[in-house]
Amino acid sequence: MDRYAVIGHPIAHSKSPRIHAAFARQTGQALSYEAILAPLDGFVGTVHAFRAAGGRGANVTVPFKLEAFALASRHTERARTAGAVNTLLFDEHGILGDNTDGAGLVRDLTANLGCTLSGRRILLLGAGGAARGTLLPLLQAAPHRLALANRSVSKAVELAAAFHPLAGAVELTAGSFGDLAGQQFDIVINATAASLAAEAPPLPAGIYAPGALAYDMMYGRDETAYLLAARAEGASRVADGLGMLVEQAAESFTLWRGVRPDTAPVLAELRRELGAA
Ligand code: NDP
Repeated sequence: MDRYAVIGHPIAHSKSPRIHAAFARQTGQALSYEAILAPLDGFVGTVHAFRAAGGRGANVTVPFKLEAFALASRHTERARTAGAVNTLLFDEHGILGDNTDGAGLVRDLTANLGCTLSGRRILLLGAGGAARGTLLPLLQAAPHRLALANRSVSKAVELAAAFHPLAGAVELTAGSFGDLAGQQFDIVINATAASLAAEAPPLPAGIYAPGALAYDMMYGRDETAYLLAARAEGASRVADGLGMLVEQAAESFTLWRGVRPDTAPVLAELRRELGAA
């Protein structure tokens, strides 16, 4: 049986084995998918051991996405621009590194949440790994504007400068949260880790345009601090990142197996379980 795995530290909480088992059942693919805890100083050795034991590919999660980028012998364009890898494919040529996080986000926004991105004003909060990984797919969706805002302003400015050559007609800007005063957006995406600390980024009042969607990459049983704040501030719709998690997994599965699973029943099942947790 073909073997796949998710490698991280910690890893016990990962939903990826359940998601990929559901995809495999649904598409009739004979494969196994396990969670592997790599020592903090032993990521590369863990990958090589898994490959030597018959592994065909792996997902990579916190804190190894940069090491996975360095390990891959070749990269997809979206991995190269992100500078981080969450999906490895082992083949006769070596190790291909891909990054499916951004495609997962865009697919959740468009296919699951019914958002049009083209021509819209999008605000991306944060300038860490998650923000970086989603920039190219967001730019390729051709919004009118993509604004980056981060607590450490210099990081947002550097990120915008790095992606400027890829922005085409998209107005790509960067600044602080305070700089957003007086501006309005159709879609606001929280890619900061603030929700992990039950905090919301300090955004000025009035940034949500009529009908705006507020999206938090984090997910859980309860609405995050950011989504609660966005609702109170007048966002018409809110959504968390559970759909992104399932969609990035589907992108990895498609790369490995050449068949795209139907994410809707898997997402619905995870959502039911989260609610019952
Ligand atoms: P990083 O550590 O790389 O970046 C953290 C970012 O959050 C930085 O921009 C940092 O700002 C900002 N930040 C941290 N704390 C605060 C705070 N209290 N107020 C405002 N800004 C803050 O993390 P990642 O980019 O890897 O992850 C970000 C989030 O995205 C996490 O919640 C993660 O769980 C989620 N995620 C979800 C995925 C999914 O599939 N649903 C996939 C990937 C990530 P500064 O630069 O100033 O330090």
